Amino acid sequence: MTLILLDRDGVINFDSKNYIRAPSDWQPIPGSIEAMARLVHAGCKLAICSNQSGIARGFFTHETLSQIHSKMHDLLKSHNVKLDAVYYCPHHPDSQCNCRKPNTGMLYQALSDLSSSPSQTWFIGDSLKDMQAALTINCHPILVRTGNGYKHEADVRALGIDNIRTDLSEAADWIIDSLVSPAL
Ligand SMILES: [Mg+2]
Ligand SMILES: [Zn+2]
Repeated sequence: MTLILLDRDGVINFDSKNYIRAPSDWQPIPGSIEAMARLVHAGCKLAICSNQSGIARGFFTHETLSQIHSKMHDLLKSHNVKLDAVYYCPHHPDSQCNCRKPNTGMLYQALSDLSSSPSQTWFIGDSLKDMQAALTINCHPILVRTGNGYKHEADVRALGIDNIRTDLSEAADWIIDSLVSPAL
């Protein structure tokens, strides 16, 4: 089964340089929820892998993050989407944990929990860290130009990634097309 791993901020919801600290800060990018619904309808599993260092920085708590995710789950539920898993790294960049992207802890956890292999897995993100993590586990990376993605296009191409899409909606349609036409 195809597994779609998603970065959260800048892919599903608008990012903020001030961090997403409260449910009211979490606002979906137009079309992202519908794109996730199409992927689920196409038979894909969906999971989020998100760096949330705002917890280590003291900007918000695990509990608040859980409230933010409740808002996201409620919206997804209204489109008949249930996420298979949500992983986040709460650590500070200096902590040298193995989960903060570009490290691969969350990605490998997802593959293990959801019984997928790198060749059946896509990672959709808007940062260089997302793309580096995807390349390290050898799954299929897609950069979206939403969030910070448009700033990283040249660096991502330099990594050898040329699957760059306008937004999650276009990325989802591209994946769905490739599932029905495996030659792509
Ligand atoms: Mg992001
Ligand atoms: Zn971590």
